[in-house]
Amino acid sequence: MSEQPLLSVVNLTKHFPVRGGLFLRTVGHVHAVDDVSFEVRRGETLGLVGESGCGKSTVGKALLRLYEATAGAVFFEGEDITQMNRKRLRALRKDIQIIFQDPFESLNARHTVGKILAEPFVIHKVGTPNERQHRVEQLLERVGLDASASNRFPHEFSGGQRQRIGIARAIALEPKLIVCDEAVSALDVSVQSQVINLLLDLQREMNLALIFIAHDLAVVKHISDRIAVMYLGEIVETETAQEIYAAPKHPYTQALLSAIPIPDPTIRRQRQILSGDVPSPITPPSGCRFHTRCSHATATCRNRKPTREQIDANTSIACHHWEQIQAEQAA
Ligand code: SF4
Repeated sequence: MSEQPLLSVVNLTKHFPVRGGLFLRTVGHVHAVDDVSFEVRRGETLGLVGESGCGKSTVGKALLRLYEATAGAVFFEGEDITQMNRKRLRALRKDIQIIFQDPFESLNARHTVGKILAEPFVIHKVGTPNERQHRVEQLLERVGLDASASNRFPHEFSGGQRQRIGIARAIALEPKLIVCDEAVSALDVSVQSQVINLLLDLQREMNLALIFIAHDLAVVKHISDRIAVMYLGEIVETETAQEIYAAPKHPYTQALLSAIPIPDPTIRRQRQILSGDVPSPITPPSGCRFHTRCSHATATCRNRKPTREQIDANTSIACHHWEQIQAEQAA
């Protein structure tokens, strides 16, 4: 029997009202996330990628109830997070944490790093003040910072060091899942890889599951076991990281990948330029939402929404013509 996933997201939908007119009535909705389903297994990393505004960060925040879902369910170890009361939700925050793109915004600038890192222990009533101080020093060392950092303030650190502090806070209560929301996007490339390596080390030690949200497929490649690609609020393809880079199947994934430079000059990849802008999520296109930018689009694509077909345990694709496209590309 296969192991129960740590997290199961089922038909998650999040619409934000658009208000207008004199009385600020609801005049429409931003379809930020529509009918999104996926699973995360214990100890694995799922990369969630797509262009800016595709809804990936909204998914991350809805998992922690930082946004309330419009519809759908999120099961963590079999329990639906969307139905939890406040008390249960607070207890769950031990098990699920989030790291944001800009740790500076989430670290209280007026508190020392020691106070910031001790906060989760205080909230969850873990340890005595002395024990908390000891745990804080251990956490700092675990993320590659000196224990003396505990007496300093967030502004005294570089962007990469602040992200390490954010990671230390996220692992303080030994969670089972961390949502990394564009966690390395603002860092220099060399610092990015240091932070990614730190996350990978922690994952191995703690059997942590990660949801790694990024707009850059190249970044996600190095950390993910599986990848889910989002376009305009929907998942269009899921696949193992290895397979998605070797043989992407959905035309949108192919276009995203073709934009990544290949370091080996002997390998050529045909560049596919994505034409046009991402359509408005207030009035998403009919049928396949990608049809306004897809070079393979047909009348069927414009009229009928493709359902995401599960090909095997890791692979799913939402495209009417993916098999035909693959056959043509292989010929
Ligand atoms: Fe392109 Fe049609 Fe496939 Fe959508 S369903 S990705 S428009 S070929």
